[in-house]
Order: sequence, then C-alpha cells, then structure tokens
Amino acid sequence: MKEVKATLRKKLLQKRRSLSLKAWQYKSQQICDHLQAFPLFGEAKTILTYFSFRQEPDLSSLFALNKVWGVPRCVEKSLSWHVFPSDFPTQTGAYGMTEPHPEAPILTVDRVDLILVPCVACDLSGYRLGYGGGFYDRLFSSPHWADKPTIGIVFQFGLIEALAIDPWDRPLQFICTEAGIEFPG
Ligand code: ADP
Ligand code: MG
Repeated sequence: MKEVKATLRKKLLQKRRSLSLKAWQYKSQQICDHLQAFPLFGEAKTILTYFSFRQEPDLSSLFALNKVWGVPRCVEKSLSWHVFPSDFPTQTGAYGMTEPHPEAPILTVDRVDLILVPCVACDLSGYRLGYGGGFYDRLFSSPHWADKPTIGIVFQFGLIEALAIDPWDRPLQFICTEAGIEFPG
C-alpha cells in the first residue's frame, strides 16, 4: 500500500511541477473564484488555509478577503495553527515550506469554521493523498477537529476515481478543482 501511494504521489507531483507558470496561475484563480462563490466559504469567518508549496493551487489572492485566516506550522508530528497575517514575519521551515512564526498568535479549534486542505490527489469519495506525512489524517482523527467542514483543494488532474486508502485515511467533505466544487458521494 505504501508503495502504491508513493508511486501515484510521485507521478502527480511531477505532473503538477510541469504546469507552466501561466497555467498554474490561471487554474489557481479559477479555484479561488469557485471557493468565493461557494456559500460555505462565504459564511465562514475563520478559515484554515496553506501557503502554496511545490505548485500547489495558490489561494493567496483570497487572503485579502475579510476573514480570519489560519496557516499551519509543523511541530513534530502535528500541525499548529497561527493567525495570518500577524505582527510576526513568516519563515521557511522544513522542506522549504513557508510557515508562520512560532510566536504568531495561535488559532484555537473552537474558532475554526472551515478548513481548506491541500491535496496531491483526491478521489470521488473525498479521500485524500498528501505528501505522506499523515498530518491531516492525524488532525482529523482528533475529536475536536473531526466535525469541521473541509474542502480539499486540488487541480483537476489530481481528482481520480478511487484512491488506495489505509484505515487511518480520513475523507474530506468537498473537493474544489478549477472545474468547480465536487460533492463526494
Ligand atoms: P498522507 O495522508 O500524507 O498521504 P499517509 O496516509 O500515507 O500519508 O499516512 C502517513 C503516515 O501517517 C502513516 O505512516 C500513518 O501511520 C500515519 N498516520 C496517519 N494517521 C494517523 C493517526 N491518526 N495517528 C497516528 N499516525 C497516523
Ligand atoms: Mg492519508
């Protein structure tokens, strides 16, 4: 199973890397437009998001909207969420990911209305393939986080029919690609 996931991950990451800058920007903007038109997004006051890494869909044009934004910092095996922007500058963490400053204000789970989850791949049941760290699986396995609305963010070529899944994989509620929002069945 580990190998099946690793092979697909590698293939899709290569494909994402090969997107031209223009295509990446255009598709990212389409994803932002679909999110903005989605009621769940419109109603959410506090939203967890991410800084685009390795040509992940770029959601940064949304950060100017009047929301409270949270971004993750990897702390050992878990994610700690911080308000963005804040008085503290972002920094470069493990693997070259941009992350919030450790002293930036913490965003507690009770405030969170919606989580935008970066994906290497998603499937039509809402299952997600990440980078292999299991960070979001671990997050959603915790009772306080399990019920939060989630939208997986992925380019259309990463939305596949059925992923190979492990018992710890947690499905997402919605998927957003440049073609629109999917409602996994
Ligand atoms: P990803 O979801 O990032 O694609 P995987 O699903 O392959 O990665 O998970 C990677 C690792 O995370 C696995 O080795 C798994 O043991 C670990 N993991 C996932 N969920 C949990 C959890 N709830 N508690 C502890 N470890 C977990
Ligand atoms: Mg997983």
